[in-house]
Amino acid sequence: MDIRTFTGGGFGENAYLVVCEDSTVAVAIDPGGAAADLARAVVEDELSLQAILLTHAHLDHIEGVNDVRAVAPEVPIWLHRDDYGMYEALPRQAAMFGLSAEAQPTPTHELEHGQRYEFGTCVFNVRFTPGHAPGHVIFVAEDESVAISGDVVFMGSIGRTDLPGGDLATLMRSIRDQVLTLPDETVLLSGHGPPTTVGHERVGNPFLVPHYGGELV
Ligand SMILES: [Zn+2]
Ligand SMILES: [Zn+2]
Repeated sequence: MDIRTFTGGGFGENAYLVVCEDSTVAVAIDPGGAAADLARAVVEDELSLQAILLTHAHLDHIEGVNDVRAVAPEVPIWLHRDDYGMYEALPRQAAMFGLSAEAQPTPTHELEHGQRYEFGTCVFNVRFTPGHAPGHVIFVAEDESVAISGDVVFMGSIGRTDLPGGDLATLMRSIRDQVLTLPDETVLLSGHGPPTTVGHERVGNPFLVPHYGGELV
């Protein structure tokens, strides 16, 4: 699995282009502000894009769906049902930040907890991780010890829960049950900032060590 990061936009969002090695089959995850660069890589490397996978429907993670569809017009768009409403409300989300946003094509497929998403010989297992957003999911490749983890946990921080549909207790439960249950060596590629690992966050993340939400972890 070859994972390339494309960071951009006003929120510094990380989009990921995941190519299954031994093939040209790829998926695009959370195409945000730098999605045009991601789309260019798809074309230049003659990749066969199988899907757009979305961890959640916040503005910064979906504002580049159109850019990817421009080079792969029929590519399916996968999102958890509980974030459909927020996806549709993209113009309202943008207005909250004093921005405007063009409408994006409607999701075509629903992601569910426990789903196995296969592309080429690669597999992502889908885990439902609400709290930062009601329909947030993460994509875990156990074989590769890597998870594309969206805005659940960051290096030294956690996702904000003050946006519509956010809930701190729910987020802490998602982190405890769906992230900290992964092996310590699992690399977390999050929606913002640098990569980290489950083990690093387990012992060093100020929101997860006992002084803060410890009893929840
Ligand atoms: Zn978010
Ligand atoms: Zn984000």
